Amino acid sequence: MRFVIDHDMHIHSGLSLCSGDPTQNPASILAYGKRNGLKTLVLTDHYWDEDVKKEPFEFYDIQNTAHIAPALPLPQEEGMRFLFGVETDMDKYGTIGVAKEHFDRFAFVIVPHTHLHMDGFTIDPCDDNIPARARLWVSRFETILKADIPFHKVGLAHMTCSLMAPRNIRDHIDALNMISDAAMTDLFKEAARVGMGIELNFPHQAYVNQGDFAVESNLRPYRLAKDAGCKFYFGSDAHHEAGLQEAPANFNAIVDALDLKEEDKFVI
Ligand SMILES: [Zn+2]
Ligand SMILES: [Zn+2]
Repeated sequence: MRFVIDHDMHIHSGLSLCSGDPTQNPASILAYGKRNGLKTLVLTDHYWDEDVKKEPFEFYDIQNTAHIAPALPLPQEEGMRFLFGVETDMDKYGTIGVAKEHFDRFAFVIVPHTHLHMDGFTIDPCDDNIPARARLWVSRFETILKADIPFHKVGLAHMTCSLMAPRNIRDHIDALNMISDAAMTDLFKEAARVGMGIELNFPHQAYVNQGDFAVESNLRPYRLAKDAGCKFYFGSDAHHEAGLQEAPANFNAIVDALDLKEEDKFVI
């Protein structure tokens, strides 16, 4: 059975500083879920737990517990779950921004290893080159997999996000292609073993517009993940209404591109 698109588990509200859009709020997100017949929505504003030590970094100094709390209580609709989660981060020391004892505050926690645009916070200046960014993709994923966290409610956010090498799409593709099948497969086998979800939200059409090489470079990690037994969920990473509007067509394109079946689904 074809993978049923019945959820969106990575959505930002205006409380995320990079959104700041008052029209992107729990009510409008719920309406999006209703319009598209979704059964599970997860609000995942950016978050760093103030009880987890980090170096000063303004974005995460602000995105703390008090900052994201005004979204609660989330509006509910019959036949739909609207869950409270967060998108946290991992700094350059491998510290994840949710204290172990605070995971029970959230239904779902997504951690990106590809947020390599936060100079000084997630990446050192000496690593600002393509081979180092490829190495960091591997080592940061490994670090997440070694963390003592409840993987059944953890997702790897935007696994191939272009922020891993943010200068241009060429850098991004080059960095991905520097990582061997074997290195990726080792990571995916472990991700499948611990039971964490792998997020799907890459802009498929944007790669198609770049040509077959770009498409294949981006799909390779997901195909390897699927072969290794990983489970997947969709997350639009929408920060505005436009992101929500575009999501269903993109999700459908991804299901087709990866030939995803219902048994490939990660469920919380
Ligand atoms: Zn954001
Ligand atoms: Zn992100």
